[in-house]
Amino acid sequence: MAYDLLLKQAHLVDPANRVNDTVDIAIENGRIARVDPVISSQSAERTWDLRGAVVAPGLVDGHMHTTLGPGGEAAFAMLARAGVSTAIDFAGPPKLVMELARKHGSGITIGSLQVLRPSAGPGEHAFSSGPETIFSDPDPDLAAIRAGVERGLDEGAIGSKILGGHFALTPSATLRIIEETVARGAYMGFHVGTTETGSNLAGLREAVSMAAPNRRIHLCHISSALRGQILPNRLHEAAEAMDLLNAAGDSVVSESFLTRWSPDPGKCIGGIPDSAIVRTSLRAGGYEPTEDGLELAIREGYTYVNVPRGDNNVAVTGEEGLVYWRGMDTDAGIAFPISYADTGLICATNKRPDGRFTVTALASDAGLLPYNVTLNHGLSLVEFGAFTLSDLIWKGSYAPARMLGLTAKGHLGEGADADIVVIDRDRKEAAHLLVAGELVMSNGMVIGRGGRFLTTDRGVEAVKTQGLEPQVLDLTRSLLYRGWNEESGVGSQALF
Ligand SMILES: [Zn+2]
Repeated sequence: MAYDLLLKQAHLVDPANRVNDTVDIAIENGRIARVDPVISSQSAERTWDLRGAVVAPGLVDGHMHTTLGPGGEAAFAMLARAGVSTAIDFAGPPKLVMELARKHGSGITIGSLQVLRPSAGPGEHAFSSGPETIFSDPDPDLAAIRAGVERGLDEGAIGSKILGGHFALTPSATLRIIEETVARGAYMGFHVGTTETGSNLAGLREAVSMAAPNRRIHLCHISSALRGQILPNRLHEAAEAMDLLNAAGDSVVSESFLTRWSPDPGKCIGGIPDSAIVRTSLRAGGYEPTEDGLELAIREGYTYVNVPRGDNNVAVTGEEGLVYWRGMDTDAGIAFPISYADTGLICATNKRPDGRFTVTALASDAGLLPYNVTLNHGLSLVEFGAFTLSDLIWKGSYAPARMLGLTAKGHLGEGADADIVVIDRDRKEAAHLLVAGELVMSNGMVIGRGGRFLTTDRGVEAVKTQGLEPQVLDLTRSLLYRGWNEESGVGSQALF
């Protein structure tokens, strides 16, 4: 038998299969054919000597963005450089994500949610490059909610996203969206907050109360809800958040990021920033929650603007950032340094009494923004001793794959997809990335093109219509529909 490719003597970190050792890895037809201490070089058409390198399953970024303002063209290359082989756009719309992926894909696997958000005000239905407006008011009726959920699935999304912290819906509408999405077996992502709460601990309490064993929810970037808005001490908020998530058990899956930067839509409508979080962030920095306040915040270096630079966007502030934001008529991605490293560290490392992580996974919330730092900052946390390299790969690759029901990703057991990141531990970055056994990124140069698009049965035609190759996701295997202890096989019982 001749394997297509043999990776020789790499240090493999594959927590789901309990491997943390120097091995040879044989790849055939895009999948892992064999992992053993030594496999004969005669058995492969090509070999790659990876002595001294660490290899791991490619990162699965369960929450990123390609449509949050201009610059989405670069997101796919930026993700590949960060060692990400699979990524989900957590806003959509799926059609726009697909258009970007078809033209600018880097060979990595992409999927999308469909955001269900209200308009900024009466008569405002602006379609910006940012998250799309679906409802005319914050309390849509059941028919409108059903139509929104179904439209997303028919257009290729794997589920729904509520951006409550940015664009609040009433609690009852929020719960109805969750129910209608779960009733269709689709993925349910929730950035906490409703008209009654916000993107804070109160929103997190409310969101957890909406989850149930038969109505599981993915809660986004937990640490961004912990900024001391509800309790005087944000560390007390973090402690309560960990208790809430532990008590919720399998009813909630969640992620957190490893950056201080939170991405937001910079669009203003009628002199007011469209996103409630932008308004809150401006107030937190001592600025007026208006378009003028945002202009001043950019000018003075508090707010950064995401500016396209070829296939690697950059964050720019001051006059240069202002000129770009104005030139885009305010419709650009922006970021504030308003998440905290201490609460971020707690969310990244805290464990449940049973040994599992409290927050399920690490995700970037970046993509087109230059904060794809899960591997880079995660390796610093390993050096710091906050967790092990196995923990990092568990939270950055395996757990998010399980969240999504991607049983052939996030680990490198026999038959798994040969999505592999080669890690340079000294430089704390991804040196090379393979997807299905093909090199898509090497030393910062992105070679890959196109890529598969994850969808459900309902979205296959929409993906094909967009000229992409669909990969149907079996969401019954997602943690939203089958908890850690309801799965058998690879990694089901592994605790690290
Ligand atoms: Zn996001």
